[in-house]
Amino acid sequence: MGVVLLRTLPYGANFVSLAETPEMTQSMAEKILFRYSASAPSVSDRLEEEACRRFDVAGALAVPSGTQALRLALLATRPRLGARVYIPAMTFVAVAGAVLSLGMIPVCVDVDENLALDPTLLPDDAERVVVAHMDGMVGPVPEITGYVIEDTAQAMGGRHRDGRAAGSVGFAGVFSFHHAKVLTSGEGGLVVTRQRSARDLMRSYSDHGSAREQGKYPAWESGAFFGENLTANEVVAGVQLQQFRTLDHILGRLERHHSRTVSEMLEAGISTIVERTPGDPKVSLHIDLPTTEQRAEALRRLESAGLPVWTLDKYLLPRHPVLRSRASIYGDGFPWSLDPDAEHLSRDAFATTANRLARRIVLPMAPELTDEAQDDLTASYVDAVVDVVR
Ligand SMILES: *Cc1c(COP(=O)(O)O)cnc(C)c1O
Repeated sequence: MGVVLLRTLPYGANFVSLAETPEMTQSMAEKILFRYSASAPSVSDRLEEEACRRFDVAGALAVPSGTQALRLALLATRPRLGARVYIPAMTFVAVAGAVLSLGMIPVCVDVDENLALDPTLLPDDAERVVVAHMDGMVGPVPEITGYVIEDTAQAMGGRHRDGRAAGSVGFAGVFSFHHAKVLTSGEGGLVVTRQRSARDLMRSYSDHGSAREQGKYPAWESGAFFGENLTANEVVAGVQLQQFRTLDHILGRLERHHSRTVSEMLEAGISTIVERTPGDPKVSLHIDLPTTEQRAEALRRLESAGLPVWTLDKYLLPRHPVLRSRASIYGDGFPWSLDPDAEHLSRDAFATTANRLARRIVLPMAPELTDEAQDDLTASYVDAVVDVVR
């Protein structure tokens, strides 16, 4: 067995390359880093065109973060203050934060055995639902008459069973370029939609409610609504374009490492590997332990061997301080105070989900590793856990 390689950078961060970022260097050379002053098409425009092509959507908008992308997608549904938004019980707290920051109420909906939002728990009149493809697990999009937003922050490049791109099926799809995600520009976000009018609405809101023409001062039509400044940056868009060019390579390496690791582990007698669908970006391999005690022992061994491992427990939102306390930065408890009766939706108060999460370990796949290095890593993983798992 070779030397254990400690993973220092996540996914796309390994492939950041100054030499392969001509759009960024050109922006720098021209000294115009603001998208609406750049000569058309701006780097941000080119990024959005690439996103439309890749995800087969009618519109895309680059924004400063995935959280802002979520906020814009929610705003594009033209919500009422205090409206309920159904969100998965297992996701990152940014989803709840985005909802609350718009004066709406997040209602956690329990997840099924695949850790995807359980659509059978949704009320018939659900108007807004967010689903989240967590840790590369591309889940179904509920069929409702209202709006479904696909949070694809952790599943860039994933595909649904019918082949459509994750993020392209619902009303809008949201992506993140945060450091820890499949592709990165440090911080950054992208929102895509099948409705061109929704893209126009989001663009306007992201630019002070204006109808701006490239190269000009913003203009406000009569009836213009207020907005914020959520404009993408040309330098960042240049990094994101470079990252997009590495996506197929990253997905291919993840797929290969995942399938080799599954075979190795099955051969070693580890039989509780969680199956992935073909379209999942294989960012990690999940193993279920029979008991929480065995999981604790597996984690202890993996960590003392210095092997990268994580868990999903932190994503159980109903137990998250932000949702438990219903605290608010506003003195009057806004927006919770608008709907004090809203209750989360679960058959068993999230007991099954909590137990499921508490028995799972997540082993990240490393697209930057050679086959040999990944095999060494896999061998180390097997050594560390086989006695606990088998
Ligand atoms: C990271 C993440 C976000 C937020 O994206 P940022 O770019 O960090 O704002 C939202 N949802 C999920 C599921 C995430 O993992």
